[in-house]
Amino acid sequence: MTGATGQDGSYLVERLLAEGVVVHGTVRPGDEVPVGVGWTPHAVDLADRDGLRALVLRLAPDEVYNLGGISSVARSWAEPEATAELSGLAPLALLDAALAVQDASGRAVRVVQASSAEIFGHPDRVPQDESTPVAPRNPYGAAKAFAHHLAAVYRERGLHVASCVLFNHESPRRPETFVTRKITRGAARIARGLDDRLVLGNLAARRDWGWAPDYVDAMVRAARHDGAGDWVVATGRAHAVEDFVRAAFARAGIDDWERYVHVDTGLLRPGDAPELVGDPGRAERELGWTRTHDFEALVGAMVDHDLAVAGGAA
Ligand code: NAP
Repeated sequence: MTGATGQDGSYLVERLLAEGVVVHGTVRPGDEVPVGVGWTPHAVDLADRDGLRALVLRLAPDEVYNLGGISSVARSWAEPEATAELSGLAPLALLDAALAVQDASGRAVRVVQASSAEIFGHPDRVPQDESTPVAPRNPYGAAKAFAHHLAAVYRERGLHVASCVLFNHESPRRPETFVTRKITRGAARIARGLDDRLVLGNLAARRDWGWAPDYVDAMVRAARHDGAGDWVVATGRAHAVEDFVRAAFARAGIDDWERYVHVDTGLLRPGDAPELVGDPGRAERELGWTRTHDFEALVGAMVDHDLAVAGGAA
């Protein structure tokens, strides 16, 4: 697994260890990994494609999950070349090494690519599904699109590659640089009297937000499914950022959220899609995938966590 220390990676590690799977994960060189965590960390930078390839050849894994890389659209505008390298070329190195292991061993290797709804750019159809045209509008989406196409290319060569087109998924492990966590943390801190305002960008953007452990479950199901292919993983329901704000503040006990939230147009992102919402029908029908958390439940879980972090009266 690449990206084992990220949001999804941390849930995937827990999930696989609970199944008794032997887990090896890449960590960024210099990152601290607690000892005795039950899995084996390997310090490999994803930009080091020779190192990545050598690791896959040496471990000869049954399943490869590619979760690492730059995962934010905003960061991809700041670092477009690094995004192409970490989220485009690193997946290519992994796919190629996985095929080499398969060819050398005669044993099937299954690869899951964590793709993204951002490959669809500004889609002209709602909801998006596996047949929606790939037309990214930012460097992150373009790097993910490159890897998504390569997944199909290596599938043609006989590798079992699942490209999971993940729509936004959140959890208390989401970094505070992402809008959802920024909102839940802000609401919790305002409720506890630690802050008095929250500054946000586009309140009108509509996104399809799901619960991260559910999306990890979809990736495991895709790896184990008989057929390889593309899988849209989404809830099928879109909410505006403003809906997220209202729900988060209400959960924190604040009904007049407008008093605390300020909009800074400087935070608006170029090429931001007005609406992304996925149709998870294929994953539900063929992978037997279901969700455990709806929108209200995921906002509630994140706010409750941030209220606990903020401390003070319950
Ligand atoms: P995340 O929390 O940002 O995790 C990314 C992981 O990649 C981290 O472990 C990070 O390590 C690692 N990484 C970054 N640069 C690296 C480098 N140069 N060398 C080695 N490791 C590096 O992302 P996530 O939310 O778990 O998402 C998992 C995957 O799903 C990503 O590929 C993301 O693009 C994709 N995805 C996520 C969403 C979503 O809503 N979460 C939606 C669509 C697709 P550090 O901790 O050291 O930075």
